[in-house]
Amino acid sequence: MTKFCPACGEALIDDAKFCKSCGASLSGAVNRQSVPERPLVEKSYTAITVIGYILAFLLPLLGVICAIYLLTRKDSEDANKHGKYMIIVAVVIWAISFLMVMG
Ligand SMILES: [Zn+2]
Repeated sequence: MTKFCPACGEALIDDAKFCKSCGASLSGAVNRQSVPERPLVEKSYTAITVIGYILAFLLPLLGVICAIYLLTRKDSEDANKHGKYMIIVAVVIWAISFLMVMG
């Protein structure tokens, strides 16, 4: 495991007490395992999400189309998540209406 200087980011040997590059104390040195979170630019699909849920209840087939649209959006994890829920809702509603027609 390689340590990195918390001050300058220089790679250091494991038992180093001070950074050989900038001289910073390494008492608080951390292994740079976690990549700093990049600010993700999330696109909002609020309108289509709301419409999709309504359609999933009223017209499951159109709801599924909305869900697929949201699932294929690569720029919003939220849209993907709602797309999955929407498919579940549409399938459940479709199954219920199917059973009602059969009954
Ligand atoms: Zn340093």
